[in-house]
Amino acid sequence: MFGRTPKKSDNTKYYEILGVPKSASQDDLKKAYRKAAIKNHPDKGGDPEKFKELAQAYEVLSDPEKREIYDQYGEDALKEGMGGGGGGHDPFDIFQSFFGGGSPFGGGGSSRGRRQRKGEDVVHPLKVSLEDVYNGTSKKLSLSRNVLCTKCKGKGSKSGVSMKCSGCQGSGMKVSIRQLGPSMIQQMQHPCNECKGTGETINDKDRCPQCKGEKVVQEKKVLEVHVEKGMQNGQKITFPGEADEAPETITGDIVFILQQKEHPKFKRKGDDLFVEHTLTLTEALCGFQFILTHLDNRQLLIKSQPGEVVKPDQFKAINDEGMPMYQRPFMRGKLYIHFTVDFPESLTPEQCKNLEAVLPPKPKMEVSEMELDECEETTLHDVNIEEEMRRKQQAAQEAYDEDDDMPGGAQRVQCAQQ
Ligand SMILES: [Zn+2]
Ligand SMILES: [Zn+2]
Repeated sequence: MFGRTPKKSDNTKYYEILGVPKSASQDDLKKAYRKAAIKNHPDKGGDPEKFKELAQAYEVLSDPEKREIYDQYGEDALKEGMGGGGGGHDPFDIFQSFFGGGSPFGGGGSSRGRRQRKGEDVVHPLKVSLEDVYNGTSKKLSLSRNVLCTKCKGKGSKSGVSMKCSGCQGSGMKVSIRQLGPSMIQQMQHPCNECKGTGETINDKDRCPQCKGEKVVQEKKVLEVHVEKGMQNGQKITFPGEADEAPETITGDIVFILQQKEHPKFKRKGDDLFVEHTLTLTEALCGFQFILTHLDNRQLLIKSQPGEVVKPDQFKAINDEGMPMYQRPFMRGKLYIHFTVDFPESLTPEQCKNLEAVLPPKPKMEVSEMELDECEETTLHDVNIEEEMRRKQQAAQEAYDEDDDMPGGAQRVQCAQQ
């Protein structure tokens, strides 16, 4: 059996990340990493992703064995485990070990202790009503979270001592080696099973009785979330550093994302509100007034101007009765009213006569009695136009799909362009 030949994948990226040629010496690599890593360190406002890439590139290229695998087979080969993993290490560890534990920023000013990673943010949806974001409110929410055990200060042991895991020598990872062929071995990395990847063990007798060596305990916490006037759907409310605590970790944030519920009466569009109102034909022609209860229970009297006629589908607006604007609650959007006019289903001849007496006259037909006799009679049917159009489109689609099965793609292209 022969060892499989890994296919060549990208083997220049790491050099590009560090900005060095492929022929770079170990010294060149060191200089390049030192300069770039200091510049891009997150403590100095650098991009964490870039910082991680630099560490990954340096970790591989500074190891002659890994560098050779990378040059020959590329990044994928390292990822697959040949040569021991393509940079699964903490970029801060790599940075720290490069500078020998001292801070390169001078005076030990790094705010990060040894190997502090950022804990995950916890995100919760928070349902709010339109009234909530119109008036502003606060909601109390009870959450349970992990906090560092106070008894052992997050060490997990009574003595504060933890031992290096003997299974992985404290690295948290184990490496297994497999022979793939006469000149090829595969190294696989996996988290150590003895310490669950933490790299340390606690003597059974020394375990903290409060957290049983887990280093953290559960705590119930009540958070008061202030929903401010004018907040938008999807807006985030952040409680920094209130997520689960873990040893040597910068605690993440609890983030609430507002989910505004639909309102039965008012629709919101940004800072504006929309409301539907149906008028009778009489109201539309002869004037109307009605009371609208607003989101803060104020009663608005809404009425037409004398002599004004409202047409079906017409909009009218009231200034400053929309939503309050976020952080400028004294400014408000508009309240739009969309009018629908309810026409009577039918009228009696008597009603028609009365209406005709007051409404503008009908257009006269400029044809003689005789000409009228020569016209053909027609019948008007009621239709549901949307329904009929939908059915016709469906029929057209089915015909088109059948066409599709026939040979001759040119015809299909023509059809699609129509
Ligand atoms: Zn271990
Ligand atoms: Zn404890």
